[in-house]
Amino acid sequence: MARSNEWFRSGLEHIWLPYAQMKTAPDPSPIASTEGARLKMEDGSILIDGVGSWWTSVHGYNHPTLLKAAHAQLDAMPHVMLGGLAHEQAYRLATRLAGITPGDLYKTFFTESGSVAVEVAMKVAVQYAMNRTGERRTRFVSFKGGYHGDTFATMSVCDPEEGMHSLFAGVVPEQYVTDLPDTDDRAEAIDRLLSSHNDIAAVLVEPLIQGAGGMRMHSPETLKALRAACDRHDVLLIFDEIFTGFGRTGEMFAADRAGVTPDIICLGKALTGGITPLAATMASRRVYEAFHTDSAEHALMHGPTFTGHAIGCAVANAGLDLFETEPRLDQVRAIQAQLAEELTPLSDLPHVADVRTCGAVAAVEFAHDFDVEAARRWFIERGTFIRPLGRVVYLTPAYVIAPEDLSALSSAIADFAATQA
Ligand SMILES: *Cc1c(COP(=O)(O)O)cnc(C)c1O
Repeated sequence: MARSNEWFRSGLEHIWLPYAQMKTAPDPSPIASTEGARLKMEDGSILIDGVGSWWTSVHGYNHPTLLKAAHAQLDAMPHVMLGGLAHEQAYRLATRLAGITPGDLYKTFFTESGSVAVEVAMKVAVQYAMNRTGERRTRFVSFKGGYHGDTFATMSVCDPEEGMHSLFAGVVPEQYVTDLPDTDDRAEAIDRLLSSHNDIAAVLVEPLIQGAGGMRMHSPETLKALRAACDRHDVLLIFDEIFTGFGRTGEMFAADRAGVTPDIICLGKALTGGITPLAATMASRRVYEAFHTDSAEHALMHGPTFTGHAIGCAVANAGLDLFETEPRLDQVRAIQAQLAEELTPLSDLPHVADVRTCGAVAAVEFAHDFDVEAARRWFIERGTFIRPLGRVVYLTPAYVIAPEDLSALSSAIADFAATQA
C-alpha cells in the first residue's frame, strides 16, 4: 500500500483525468490487476466490474487467447506502418470484418479511437458527394441523446444540450440535431428535413442504444424509418456501432438485430476486447466506388500514425476467434434474461422512472438527480464498480461474467434504489 500511495499521490498531481473537475472529484480507485469480470484493488479487495472498462472488455479481462495473440505479435513484430508496408494482421482483420458485417460493407479504414473512426466516416461521407457529383454536402443529421466522440467534428453531432460539449456551441460546425424518428410524425419530420436541404451528407445514429446519452433504447422500426428516408433522398446512413458492435445487443451488430444495413459503420470499443486501442470505419462497395477512380484527388487523404496497429489487429482477430469458439451471443442473451428478471421489479418503485434492457445492457433510470460520485463510492463499498450516467444506473458487464457476480451487481443496484426512496 505504501508503494502504491507513492505513484498514486505524486501522479494525481500531474495526471489530467477524463470528464473530471479535478478540484472536487473524489480520488479514483487504484487497481492492481484484473481477471474475468473482476478488478483487484491495490489494497487487495475485489470489485465486480459492472462497466467493463468503458464497455470494451467483453471477453473478460486477461483472456488467455487474447493475451497469447498479443504476446505472439509483440515477439514477431510489434508494428509496421501501413503506408508503403503491409502486415498480416491488419489485412486479415479487414477481410474478416467484411465477412461478418451486414450487407456489402467491405472496405475498412483503421484508426485508434472511436472518435477518429467517426471523424473518418464523416469525411468519407462529405467526400463521397464531392467525388460523385462535385456537390458540397457538408452537414449531418444526428439525434438528441446521441454521443459520437469528443473531437471537434464529433462534438458537433452529439446531443447539444445533454452532451458534455454545450460550452462549444458556436465553435463546432452546426448540424441538424433532431428527434429520433420513433413515431410516425417524427419519421415524416426526418423526411421533410432531408427533402428541404441539399447540404446533408449523411444521417448518423447509434443503432438501437444511445450509450453515453444514458442507455436510451429505440426499436428497429426507428432505424427502418431512417433507412427509408435516406434511400428516398439519396443521403448516406452511418451507424455508429462503437458501443453496440460485437454482440452487445445480442446479435453481432445492432444492424443485424434491427435488420437494417447502413452505408458506413463505425466500430471500436469491444473490437480488441479492451486490450489495445483500435477502431474501424467500414464503407459499402457503393460508397467506396466513388473513391476508386483514376483521379488522385478522389483518394481518401487520411492516415493516423498507428493506423492498423499490428498488436491491436492481432488481438482483434483473436477476439473474432472467440466469438466463433465460445458461446458469446448465448452468454449475452442469458445476461439479458437474468438482468430483466432481477431489475425489472425495480420499475414498481415510485422514484424509478424506467428500467430497460437490451442484450448485455441494463439501465435503471431514476426520477430524480443524485450525486453520481457519491453513488460510485457507495457501489465500491459494496464490492462493485458501477458508474452512473446522470440519473441512469447501468450495467454493461463482460459477456463471460458469472451469474452470481451478475446477481451481485443487480442486488447492489436494488439496494442503491432502496437508499433513494
Ligand atoms: C465511446 C464512443 C465513441 C468514442 O470512442 P472513443 O474511442 O472514446 O473516441 C463514439 N461513439 C460511440 C457510440 C461511443 O460509445
